[in-house]
Amino acid sequence: MYSISVPDEKHKYHVGELAKMFLPEDAFCIYVGQPDAELVIGAGGDYNDSKRRAYAFFRKITGKDLDWGILTGVRPGKLYNELKARGEDPETVLKETYYVSDEKIALLRRVSESQQTVKRSPDPKAIGLYVGIPFCPTRCQYCSFTSNPYQRDASDAYLTALLREMEAVRKLMDRQGQTAESIYVGGGTPTSLEVDQLRLFLNRVRDLFVTDSTVEFTVEGGRPETITAEKLTVIQEAGAGRISINPQSMKQRTLDLIGRKHSPQQIREAFALAQQAGIGIVNADLITGLPEETPEDFRDSLSGVITLGPENVTVHTLAVKKASRMIEEDPRIALRQADNVRQMLQDADRMLTEAGFEPYYMYRQKHMAGNFENVGWCRPGTASLYNIRIMEEDQTIVAMGAGAISKVYFPAENRLERVPNVSNYQIYIERIDEMIARKEAGIQ
Ligand code: SF4
Repeated sequence: MYSISVPDEKHKYHVGELAKMFLPEDAFCIYVGQPDAELVIGAGGDYNDSKRRAYAFFRKITGKDLDWGILTGVRPGKLYNELKARGEDPETVLKETYYVSDEKIALLRRVSESQQTVKRSPDPKAIGLYVGIPFCPTRCQYCSFTSNPYQRDASDAYLTALLREMEAVRKLMDRQGQTAESIYVGGGTPTSLEVDQLRLFLNRVRDLFVTDSTVEFTVEGGRPETITAEKLTVIQEAGAGRISINPQSMKQRTLDLIGRKHSPQQIREAFALAQQAGIGIVNADLITGLPEETPEDFRDSLSGVITLGPENVTVHTLAVKKASRMIEEDPRIALRQADNVRQMLQDADRMLTEAGFEPYYMYRQKHMAGNFENVGWCRPGTASLYNIRIMEEDQTIVAMGAGAISKVYFPAENRLERVPNVSNYQIYIERIDEMIARKEAGIQ
């Protein structure tokens, strides 16, 4: 057990986040003001100073370097753009202050360049909308989202409450003179709804929110086994031009291990249906670092997905969060898979670049294997504005449904204020009036 002493609780948090990237949580202990610890970090420096001291210590113990250096924040792309806007050289700062590797700096540069081609500086009256459906066919082993097994009665009651919240938001937007620039219907798996429910719900989204200034309307399909030709027609009739069909892996053994309950063949069929329907832009999510997967497995999955012809591919890194089953079943998988993830991400970069994709947004999460990142790749001209805005945090996003967290942007102070809904869908239904009242009080 390695011991580190820091000056106060805040330094303890920051140094602790970094320590977890190097070692299992039971292999180190961080104390406040413990003079006989193996590493003693005194008062007087900022968090980055403490993290740099800790980085040198862990590097010596483990022989490891981290690609993202001491950066534990979730939005390195935002930091890169902010440094640039302040007239600083982001690449020098990231290298010298944060110890970020040349490879990750090159990734940030490419992401920043791709974003220049997409509309910048949002109109202050143009907001993003998120609507969540918290039901899925089964719960994935790594899931930490608001997701419940689909049931007809429960989902009917949920939709009744959700439609009330949507109507209240429309009134609120009218009062503020706001329009929806982009709409994202996520979850959960919205396409786990039955056809009549999906039609009622999506048509209401269209009637309430879609206007001439709406540039993007996305529906998350997520689970391939929920996609049917009829549901795709409903999605198109509601005016959505983007969907996500998420394989995560093309290997049956992996899909079984993570509780997905669908086959690679169902993934291929869902993509074929989307192509026949003529859905404009299809995104496919993959995850690096899944149980038992090797870099070769990941390369096979990625080349299989590229063959299916998506316009967007999002490459996630496995994150094992507290709300997931995986944290109980295999808490050390993230550390164990770190070297494989590094290789998988390098392969993704090479294969997607060769196939004509460019990286256009990226973010990190806590508890990710190897402290790596999620990267959204797109064919030129197909970037999702919603995804860029949410990472840049420069626009109000009003989020509806159980577990949804609205973020109100105050441009003058360049800060966000969160307005959350409860995450349990039954409590959301019971307390829908309170959810609406929270929005009325918090959104301006
Ligand atoms: S499809 Fe997504 S939201 Fe649903 S259980 Fe799996 S990870 Fe969770």
